[in-house]
Amino acid sequence: MQAVPPGATIGILGGGQLGRMLALAAARLGYRCHIYAPEADPPAGAVAAQVTRADFTDRAALARFAASCAVVTYEFENIPVAPVAELAATVPVRPGIEALRITQDRLLEKRFCQQRGIATAPFRAVGSAAELDQAIAELGLPLVLKTRRMGYDGKGQAKIAKAEAAAAAFAALRSDELIAEGFIGFRRELSVVLARGADGRIVSWGPVQNIHRNHILWRTYAPARLDDRLRNDAERIAASLAEGLEYVGVLAVELFDCGDRLLVNEMAPRVHNSGHWTMDAAVTSQFEQHIRAICGLPLGSAERLCDAVMENLIGDEVKTWPALLAEPNAKLHLYGKAEARPGRKMGHVNRLYPLGQAPQL
Ligand code: AMP
Repeated sequence: MQAVPPGATIGILGGGQLGRMLALAAARLGYRCHIYAPEADPPAGAVAAQVTRADFTDRAALARFAASCAVVTYEFENIPVAPVAELAATVPVRPGIEALRITQDRLLEKRFCQQRGIATAPFRAVGSAAELDQAIAELGLPLVLKTRRMGYDGKGQAKIAKAEAAAAAFAALRSDELIAEGFIGFRRELSVVLARGADGRIVSWGPVQNIHRNHILWRTYAPARLDDRLRNDAERIAASLAEGLEYVGVLAVELFDCGDRLLVNEMAPRVHNSGHWTMDAAVTSQFEQHIRAICGLPLGSAERLCDAVMENLIGDEVKTWPALLAEPNAKLHLYGKAEARPGRKMGHVNRLYPLGQAPQL
């Protein structure tokens, strides 16, 4: 693959905070970014050279966008595959279409893990109330019923504890493309964020531990305190998935730590909230690394320079920014969003600690 040199234009599908931080990292390396997003005033637009406001199904707008870019990437996975596949006929799209197709569908994702010999929660495809009853009979209760696509931050899912609640949960999700998963009593949630270069080289920042509040990521502790066996397992699982997808770019793999073994929960084919700590505590941030990977540049070092605890600023929490700026070890990142709606990710703070001295959970 020919490298995309600095000065070229990188296209980013999606205009949220991930696109914004990608565009900032790209600019530092001398690239221009063209953001493609359906919404008005996307957070990424404020820091990009060019913005197209159009729907992801607008083929004419996508074709014009593609013509302006040397390479295209995406900052979220809930975009329709067909128009992006068309785009890939005229401009390289990284990570590729297959990675997008598999990772945007929880069922395909879990089947893919199975094919690679990687453990997940037990699961069944559910397309009807009868199939849900069958899944309950086979998997037992409690279980988690999820939409196959478009779910995030706990949206599009319901825990079913009693068989009597099944019909209502099925009706509430308003879809016949669902997946039922056995409920896992995990000890904690981990993730591995790694990058795979165009040459197949993998560089990982290592497992981190994630704490959620109201189904939204609240804090990431980097590094996770793990014994060597689980640490190696986590790295091996994530690398195997990246290789199997012939992946180019940054990939996040979310894991349940069940004490004696790890189960894959889901993958994200993009930079990830649990990798935000790398902006201030690693030699190369996940955003720079993604740009390097999709442009065919050598990957940078993922060495951790200090420990870090990342905390998301959700909704009104962003109003604490003056106090956060006054903390000596805190690095503040705000996304420039005008309205602090409840549940909205407005920014994050990375608190830095000398190696080995981050607060324990
Ligand atoms: P997801 O959108 O699949 O990442 O799910 C959001 C959160 O729900 C996860 O971070 C877990 O805390 C929880 N969760 C999801 N699937 C399961 C499961 N099969 N068993 C137990 N908890 C789950």
